[in-house]
Amino acid sequence: MGTGRQKVVVIGAGTLGMSAAWNLQQRGADVTVLDQGGIASGSSGRSVGVVGTQHVDDFEILIRTHSLRQLRQWTAHGLTFHAIGYMRMGRDARDMALFEKSLFMQKAHGITSAQLLDPAAIRARVPHMNVDGLAGALFGPEDGFLDPHQMCTLLAEHVKAGGGTVRQNCKVTGAEMKGNVWHLATSAGAVTCDAVVNAAGAWAPAVATLFGQRLHVLPERHQAVTIHLSEPLPYTMPMVMDLVQGGTGTGLNVRHDRPGQLITEIHKVSPTAGENPDSYNDQLDEAAKDQLAELLLERMPDLPGASFGRGWAGLYPKSSDGRPYVGPIDPAEPSLVTAAGAGGYGIQLGPVIGQLAADWIIDGAPTSIPEARRLLPTPDRNRPIA
Ligand SMILES: Cc1cc2nc3c(=O)[nH]c(=O)nc-3n(C[C@H](O)[C@H](O)[C@H](O)COP(=O)(O)OP(=O)(O)OC[C@H]3O[C@@H](n4cnc5c(N)ncnc54)[C@H](O)[C@@H]3O)c2cc1C
Repeated sequence: MGTGRQKVVVIGAGTLGMSAAWNLQQRGADVTVLDQGGIASGSSGRSVGVVGTQHVDDFEILIRTHSLRQLRQWTAHGLTFHAIGYMRMGRDARDMALFEKSLFMQKAHGITSAQLLDPAAIRARVPHMNVDGLAGALFGPEDGFLDPHQMCTLLAEHVKAGGGTVRQNCKVTGAEMKGNVWHLATSAGAVTCDAVVNAAGAWAPAVATLFGQRLHVLPERHQAVTIHLSEPLPYTMPMVMDLVQGGTGTGLNVRHDRPGQLITEIHKVSPTAGENPDSYNDQLDEAAKDQLAELLLERMPDLPGASFGRGWAGLYPKSSDGRPYVGPIDPAEPSLVTAAGAGGYGIQLGPVIGQLAADWIIDGAPTSIPEARRLLPTPDRNRPIA
């Protein structure tokens, strides 16, 4: 567009969009972020912020190690990361065999601190845990949690300090390519640019439509609630996930929030209906409280004076196969890159997705992780989700 620097608009100021913006700016682009609401006003601000590498698939671990590296870089710029550890519970020998493989895979990607725990070692770390029915756990001491609102705000400040623009209350309503320039219509006037990143979370399909593309993301509703304790625990409880990745069913997902307060979420892997991101029920329902109470009573029956506090619901923007879409939908249109569909992992994967989205815009390929070409929204992946 004549300035010498590539002008890129990022649609969405959630974790994916803000990370893409930061990475694009680092790589020399002139960046503008547009959000129809506020920074982290979508799914990102409704998440519980868990970040970890305790997975049982090599690619999942690989991309998370890139995210962790970037998060560490951001902590040097002021991001608060609470490395309290993450414990994934295993029920049987099959789970423990998967966990053992995970240790090898994590080691290969530079994470040497992960370890297996037997039930006694679980109790030593979480004395309130009922270990009945557990074979052991996979434990990652370097995993932790962060406040996604703080992360997005911090990245926005950096983008602005670097000469970029972050416009809130600015909804993209139309798009047209004239010559090699995108002309975007927004609720706050026209914007032109050379390239666009669609990081609109649960709204990413609606944004894709504005560009004449089809994108399949299922907005799946999930709920979380704080638990108040009558007295602070005498230890910091690591994050606990009572479900093996790739397993089915419903599992308890609890983490320390602050002394005397935990946060819990029901982690479902059963399919649920998609929601309309503009009109879904964003409040916690009574049925979910009952289900959480049941799971808690089974796994942590003796928490002192536990009672539910503030609860809420938000959306997992899910892809067809549980992996994010990163890259152009149409290879003939490389100036429109999708970064969406991170499901229940958009906080921990936000940093790496942003890095890859910047690679696609600047290099036309996922140069920092060549294996991440498999995240392209190709027709076999970008398909309707039942
Ligand atoms: C209860 C709950 C718990 C979770 N816990 C975790 C967790 O522990 N760890 C984890 O990794 N993930 C977790 N997640 C998932 C995580 O929150 C999401 O994957 C992530 O926030 C998705 O980020 P995003 O940037 O893609 O979308 P969003 O954060 O939704 O950002 C998209 C943005 O696009 C904007 N937008 C949309 N349309 C337009 C338009 N036309 N013009 C301009 N702007 C537009 C929206 O306003 C929004 O701000 C959780 C989610 C929920 C609901």
